[in-house]
This record gives sequence, C-alpha cells and structure tokens, in this order.
Amino acid sequence: TKATFDNIDTTDADVAAFLNLNKDAALKKAAELDAQGIDADNLLSGIPVAIKDNIVTKGLKTTAASKMLENFKPIYDATVTKKVNESGMINVGKTNMDEFAMGGSTENSAFKTTKNAWDYTRVPGGSSGGSAAAVASGQVVAALGSDTGGSIRQPASFNGVVGMKPTYGRVSRWGLIAFGSSLDEIGPITRTVKDNALILSAIAGHDERDLTTSTKDVPDFAADLNADTNVKGMKIGLPKEFLGEGVDQDVKDAILAAADKYRELGATVDEVSLPHNKYGVAAYYIISSSEASSNLQRFDGIRYGYRADDTKSLEDVYVKSRSEGFGDEVKRRIMLGTFSLSAGFYDAYFKKAAQVRTLIINDFQNVLKDHDFIMGPVAPTPAYKIGEDVDDPMTMYMNDILTIPVNLAGLPGMSIPAGFSNGLPVGMQLIGRPFDETTLYKAAYTFE
Ligand code: GLN
Repeated sequence: TKATFDNIDTTDADVAAFLNLNKDAALKKAAELDAQGIDADNLLSGIPVAIKDNIVTKGLKTTAASKMLENFKPIYDATVTKKVNESGMINVGKTNMDEFAMGGSTENSAFKTTKNAWDYTRVPGGSSGGSAAAVASGQVVAALGSDTGGSIRQPASFNGVVGMKPTYGRVSRWGLIAFGSSLDEIGPITRTVKDNALILSAIAGHDERDLTTSTKDVPDFAADLNADTNVKGMKIGLPKEFLGEGVDQDVKDAILAAADKYRELGATVDEVSLPHNKYGVAAYYIISSSEASSNLQRFDGIRYGYRADDTKSLEDVYVKSRSEGFGDEVKRRIMLGTFSLSAGFYDAYFKKAAQVRTLIINDFQNVLKDHDFIMGPVAPTPAYKIGEDVDDPMTMYMNDILTIPVNLAGLPGMSIPAGFSNGLPVGMQLIGRPFDETTLYKAAYTFE
C-alpha cells in the first residue's frame, strides 16, 4: 500500500487518474492487516484498489467529478465499498470520471483531464477513465468502474486493460450515484482476467437495499480458467454490424485474428446479425437522459451539495445552484430527458425508445439462444486526441454504438486487450447470456 502511494505520487502528475486519495485510512488498514499476518486463503487481502468517484465512500469525498458535489462527504458506504473493505482490499482513493458518468473521454470532469496511460496526448476513454488509466499505468492492479453505456468497457479498451460490465442485477447499485437506473452497473477493471474474476466474485450478490439485484448464487468466477480447453466446442457469434462502416481496419483485423484463435482452439465462429443495433444510440440517449433528469432532481441546492450565493427566493436557489453546479453535458442530458418525458412528447420519444429497446433485446436473444457468446470490437477506433471530439456531442455519442446495446439488454459485456493500432491498444468485446459471466471469463482467459 505504501509503494502504491509512492508510485501514485510520482506518476499522477502526468496521468491525473485520481481526484482524492485515502492515504491515512489505507495505510492504517494495511498496518492492521500486516499485524494480523497473511491470510493465505484470501487472495484479495491487502490488495490496493481504486474506486470510481461516483461510488460513495463513508467519510471520504465523493464528487462524481461534479462541482455540485465538490465537498460532499458521504455518511455511509455503498454496498460495493463495504464488500471491498470486507474482502480485505484496501481503498487507496477515488478516480476521475466524466461528470455524473456522462461522457466517453473523462473530459467532462469538472476538475481535471485524465490522460491515456499509453499516450498522454490522448483521452483515457470514459466515463471510468480515471479507473482504467490508474490500472494501465501501474498505479493499482484493480479499480472499480461503472458502466451505463460503455463506461467500463471503452476506457478498458482505450487503455489495454480488462473491464467487466456484469449482468444488470449482478452487483448492487446501492450507493452508486444514479445516472440511468435501468442501465447502470458496477464492475471491475484490472490488468488480468483472473484478477477481474476474483473481484467480481467479491462484489457481486443479492442486496436487500437494491431490489433489482438477483438472488442467484455468485459463482467463483476465477475457478476452472484454462486457456487451452475453455472454448473447445463453443459456438460464437460475430455480428456483421460490428465490423461495418466506421470501424477502423486495425480494429477489424484484431477481432478477426481473435476469431481465428478461437477456431484453432475448437470453437466455431459464425457471422450473425443484430439488425436493430443501429438504433441503440438513439434509444439510449432518450432512455438514459430521461432517467438522469429524474435522478438528478435531488441536487436542488437544499438537501446537500452546491448552493449558490445571493439567492432571493426558493426558485432562485434551485435555478442558480443547478445552473452553477452542473456542467454543460449534464445540463444537455437533463434538458433532453425532461423534454422526452414531457406530456406532449412522451409517446413520440420515451415510449418509442422503450419499444426499440425491446427489439434490441430480442435481437440478442435470437443470437444467444444458439451461441455461447458474441464477440466484436468495443469501440470503432483506438483512443483519440484530447480535445478532438469535445465540442461535438454527436460524434462522441456515436463512439458508443457497440457497447450501448448491451446495457439496453442488461447483458454482461467484457473488454479484453486484443491488439494494437499504431501503438495504441485495441479492445475486444465479449457479450454473454444473462448471468453467464463465467463463459466470458473462460473465453477471455484464452488471451491472458
Ligand atoms: N458515453 C456514454 C454516455 O455518455 C456512456 C457513459 C456510461 O456508460 N456511464 O452516456
């Protein structure tokens, strides 16, 4: 733990992955664990981990990278924070992100711009860019992220690390600052597949405080990982839409090479189709923004968070606090969501988007009824330059075309390193049946 902080001290001036460190408490816990001696049965004991700053940590500032929560110290731990602590892992600090997890480059943080660990002139992806860069730069071996439309998988891909968005309902969202409640999911970002599996087993499970969590047993995801035999006999689907227009040739080549490797190991890889995939981004921005506009109502300048000065009425407190506390992208989503849900437009927007969501769910079900999992790219390109897309929300939104449908369908999706393009990492996405993260870990382990 001490070495971790020394390393962060020297590297974070460049990487800028952390918003806030938990130094005193972490060193104290490490000393206590040292005094107890090594618990040989618990591989996670004493392992330093970083936590995305939209996951609440008791007594430790949790800002969701928003001015709105700049000085917010939660009075309780999220369920995953509690599980991290109970597992013996040591929370070393909170990582940077796009404000309220809205974005794909971490440039929407109110506080700082995190750099890609491979090239400091490029974005780390987002919104869990701080978590992915912290892992990729060697600051920590593991971090928690959250994924509403790709925010674990895309930064993992941009930084050449392993990211898992578990099935919706696998991990408790209690204490995750809500963005799109029907889409949000917490998961691990790690250097290796096995570490990822170990951590998911530690943080998953039913939680009476989040009734969308499943009561299914949580397997030991790290058991039975075997690179040579795991995929033998498996049927894999490769959607033709995932290798279409807009996807870089190097990205396509990396995926096709991975498909060949699976075939060599005795799997079959067929071309399949997800015909409604192309409507995913449009449906997502209606649904996620609608949910966000409702979730973010609680930031009213009264109960907690930022409050503007010099206000003359209650209305003025709301308007000024929200105008000053939220960044532009967050305001854009609130306006879009409020509009989509309004009486005159609900049928044309929210209801339509919900119907499209059902078509997307059906597409996945059709493929997954006779395929063990789906493979494809995570993002159409490797990491782009800082500042390149920041003023162009549409381009930014389209970047998530391959990850968003997975959240709409609530399926598990994983990003693993699959190659390079001009020295930048390229990720591969594996998409599974509901609650079958085990198959994804097995397939991912082929490339460990
Ligand atoms: N980039 C997407 C968005 O801006 C996804 C973000 C996320 O998964 N939190 O909404």
